[in-house]
Amino acid sequence: MKREELERIDREYREKPPEELLAWAASAFKGRAVFASSLGLEDQVLTRMLADIDPAFPMFTLDTGRLFQETYDVLSTTREQLGVRLEILFPKREEVEAMVNEHGPNLFYESVEKRKLCCGVRKVAPLTRRLKGLSAWITGLRREQSVTRTDLKHVEWDEVNGLVKINPLADWHIDEVWAYIKKKSVPYNRLHAKGFPSIGCAPCTRAVKEGQDIRAGRWWWENPEYRECGLHER
Ligand code: SF4
Repeated sequence: MKREELERIDREYREKPPEELLAWAASAFKGRAVFASSLGLEDQVLTRMLADIDPAFPMFTLDTGRLFQETYDVLSTTREQLGVRLEILFPKREEVEAMVNEHGPNLFYESVEKRKLCCGVRKVAPLTRRLKGLSAWITGLRREQSVTRTDLKHVEWDEVNGLVKINPLADWHIDEVWAYIKKKSVPYNRLHAKGFPSIGCAPCTRAVKEGQDIRAGRWWWENPEYRECGLHER
């Protein structure tokens, strides 16, 4: 798909409800697209929408081996309640063993490089393997989530992974996300009610204070511009 075509589709769907963009993606990329869920609030919204549009639409989440128990709980509940087959991907055992044996289990606190190495082995490599050969992927990214996401489009070319990236909630405000979750009784991670607006791996996520940036609790020891795990490099 040419860039001009992607820009046209982005313009067309930015004014429409996300369900319409999802329906378009499910049809235009049938069998060649996947939804990547982190089980965050936005991804729960999209899972619910896709369950209505096409419950068999391929979707997956990454089990890094370092998640909160609450995250496993919402994963389990989502599969049961929404009737979707949320595939669970793991990193390669030999890569995790080699990294942890060389650098220790808490390497991420030692430097940005080691933190990115851990995210690379546990997240980016499984994602890259899953996206290989596909034409498009869907994410729950929103512009207001981070200083690294302010120019996010609804439909864009993912240069890093070489396929179309679809972000149906790009311009949603967090209040719209919560309103949808409540209205549709969508299951969500109970840590969100305990001061965790954004949830990743347990050792790299902590609660934030009222008024703090929503991603302030992610890799809180690093500068904000480094706080991406590599899944959404642009
Ligand atoms: S978030 Fe932390 S524990 Fe999880 S993959 Fe990245 S560095 Fe490793």
